[in-house]
Amino acid sequence: LTQRVPVPRAQDEVQRLALTFNEMLASLDAMFARQRRFTADAAHELRTPVAAIRSLAEVALSERSEPEMYMHVLQNITSESERLGELIRDLLVLARADEGQASFEHEPVRLDLLAQGAVATMEHLAQERAVHLSVQAREQVQVMGDEARLIQVVLNLVENALVYTNPGGNVTVETGIEQERAILRVRDTGIGIAHEHLPHVFERFYRTDKARSRAAGGTGLGLSIVEWIIHTHGGTIDVQSQPEQGSLFSISLPLARLPGASEGEGDTAK
Ligand code: ADP
Repeated sequence: LTQRVPVPRAQDEVQRLALTFNEMLASLDAMFARQRRFTADAAHELRTPVAAIRSLAEVALSERSEPEMYMHVLQNITSESERLGELIRDLLVLARADEGQASFEHEPVRLDLLAQGAVATMEHLAQERAVHLSVQAREQVQVMGDEARLIQVVLNLVENALVYTNPGGNVTVETGIEQERAILRVRDTGIGIAHEHLPHVFERFYRTDKARSRAAGGTGLGLSIVEWIIHTHGGTIDVQSQPEQGSLFSISLPLARLPGASEGEGDTAK
């Protein structure tokens, strides 16, 4: 913990300075605490698949069994290694984000086309999970930003929606323009999120149900990466949810100024 500056009695300005300084130190302390927590959580999460790989390898080495057993063990080792790979990939993304090292493209991106593409990509998972996936993206919606990262955002939200929705449910992706902002919503009729968990779902490694999330292949980092990408684009993301009813993730982004689509369009057309 950082030490506080003694606040002198005299002189208003010096006193204010000391108080401001102490507030800054307090927020630094909070930042260090978050960082320590993140490192501890990351170590814990990394240990799980490593321990699994090790015990699987021990099984394979210790028993003289049928080839099928080896196949089974190798399949499990492969999927645990994939988990480990995903975790490392997400941790690297966040490490670059923290350093402020991540580079972002700044190009026009059609959010409506992006949503349609993401839905097409996720169709196989939707079928696998017997969840109905649809998209409503009728009007052109253009934002400025990094297309690859925005695709990652939508894929992440749709994947969560599919994973946390029971067979027979619905997932809808919607884009549009509202109050001069680009809007993207991912709605599901899934298991929902309890009120007390809602403020925390964007935190790193936060999961409402660790077992279910792990079984579904989640790293617990997806939403914190999504939030970081949206904030870097000057946007906001929020979530509304009712347990057993479903969840709604809403993103709002600044619209790109289209040449010829400004208020002056009527004048120049003459
Ligand atoms: P994970 O990799 O575990 O899915 P995320 O950061 O993407 O991690 O999400 C954090 C947690 O928020 C999840 O573990 C889950 O508990 C909850 N969550 C996210 N999306 C949904 C959703 N659409 N419906 C219900 N719960 C959700």
